[in-house]
Amino acid sequence: MKRTLIVANWKMHLNTHEASLLVKRLNDRIPAHRTIEVVLAPSLLVLQPLSLEIDRRKFRLAAQNAYTKDAGAFTGEVSFTMLRDLVHYSIIGHSERRIYFKESLEDVRDKVQAAVRNGIAPILCVGETKQERAAGETSRLIHDQVTTALSNLTPEEVENVVIAYEPVWAISTFGGEIAKPTDIKRVLDLIRHNVTELYGASTAEQMRLLYGGSVTADTAPGYLEIEGCDGALVGSASLNYQQFADIVEGAYRVNHRQEA
Ligand code: PEP
Repeated sequence: MKRTLIVANWKMHLNTHEASLLVKRLNDRIPAHRTIEVVLAPSLLVLQPLSLEIDRRKFRLAAQNAYTKDAGAFTGEVSFTMLRDLVHYSIIGHSERRIYFKESLEDVRDKVQAAVRNGIAPILCVGETKQERAAGETSRLIHDQVTTALSNLTPEEVENVVIAYEPVWAISTFGGEIAKPTDIKRVLDLIRHNVTELYGASTAEQMRLLYGGSVTADTAPGYLEIEGCDGALVGSASLNYQQFADIVEGAYRVNHRQEA
């Protein structure tokens, strides 16, 4: 059984005290669900204290980024090796990193490989900008982002990679247009098709694909009902405990309906 993955990307928000407060509030509102995995991605600084506070039956941790090398003279960087005992996952290739920090397809590929080498499951973000969409480049762009990022992995390693389709135009801080379920399904199908061609149908079937882009408690159930959508990556709404707890609750209700 694939557990639905709900990921909170807190970005560069919340210091240690604020993060701890948010976790307490989430802990009060979110029960442990057999069919749902809830992952929190705080800032690097907060990972260590939070790892001691979270109820591990309810929450797992993710990094938002790390460096491609395991150790060395790379001032200011943190490696996946340093994170391996702290996190299960790492977000990699988020559009903010690709756009603001100029991460190339190859940088993302090397980070995916470094995470896997250190036993951390990548949550690989892919997605096109508004201009690329208007120019009809979505399929080619998604293909290039997916195939380059996975190119140094074996099929067994690819199975554990999570891919989040996050159209840049739908992310709240880049415009926040509401994506249609049909648009999302088309790209999720495309991603599974790309993975099938490279690594086989069973690998593609095992992988979890998420949707991210202005997901709220109101919109989450509609996205989670899309066939082939295995979860959500949540930005802004994850900073609001009521919204985020309601998103998890919505995921539970969708799973329950699908099981019934
Ligand atoms: C994100 O940045 O990963 C994201 C999905 O943000 P938001 O939910 O705020 O659009």
